[in-house]
Amino acid sequence: MKVGLIDLDSKMPNLALMKISRYFKSLNYKVELTSPLFAKDYDELFASKIFTYSEMPMLPESTIIGGSGYSLDSRLDESIENLMPDYSLYGCDYAIGFTTRGCNRKCPFCIVPKKEGKFHVVGDIYDFWQGQKKLMLLDNSLNTDEDHFLKIYDQVKKEKVSINFNQGLDIRYLTDIQAKALTELKLWKQIHFAWDLMESEPLVRHGISILYHHNLISKSMFYVLIGFNTTKEEDLYRVEELRGLGIDPFVMPYDKFDEYQKAFARWVNMKSVFKSVSWKDYKYA
Ligand code: SF4
Repeated sequence: MKVGLIDLDSKMPNLALMKISRYFKSLNYKVELTSPLFAKDYDELFASKIFTYSEMPMLPESTIIGGSGYSLDSRLDESIENLMPDYSLYGCDYAIGFTTRGCNRKCPFCIVPKKEGKFHVVGDIYDFWQGQKKLMLLDNSLNTDEDHFLKIYDQVKKEKVSINFNQGLDIRYLTDIQAKALTELKLWKQIHFAWDLMESEPLVRHGISILYHHNLISKSMFYVLIGFNTTKEEDLYRVEELRGLGIDPFVMPYDKFDEYQKAFARWVNMKSVFKSVSWKDYKYA
């Protein structure tokens, strides 16, 4: 039996496909990544679509399709979900996984609470780490639960692994204890936080004061969502406030096709431009 796995739009090794690969390889099936062009060469086909905005190609009717960009209800069977990813599928030299799912907040632009429900612990790094030097956590809000956060911190520190909190941490939950723990970890990427909604400002400022206290400012960056429910003035206010606090903002447009949002994101995210030209003088028309 030959199983084809189609990664339609992932920007990193696709965790679900790596688990499906592990499952079928354990049954001695031949498994490989492929493209819709070669679909007819396989006995079984699985495709994953992460983003709603990416194109859906023609696929044979029998293809099993999953991913948030296809359906919020698609789930891996538990017997596959709990498997160690097959990192060889992508030649991936770092570990990837979740130790928690869900989120207790209800940001109106976010699918996580709808798809995964409330924050809950699902495991720890030993479910997906096999001795790699680097580890990418996909948890959406790891520091919601301080005890669990500290458990993961202990494991990462003990194993001397470099860590990337790929989905970021929630600045509104950040405590002194968590920040101190962060100073003791080997970071593979800057720590991502977010300031998406204007009403979060007091908690964002409080969290930033904790980052200052622990000398974590230069190791941090903030995502700033624009075009959802903030005005252009509020977009400029947030990026300038962050700049004033010595923090790198990174703008995420809600509508990637909107001219203003594209231009504002380009202005902020191209650091050399952001540093040398004001928004007022930045011509984008
Ligand atoms: S805090 Fe993050 S994961 Fe939770 S609902 Fe808001 S955007 Fe989504």
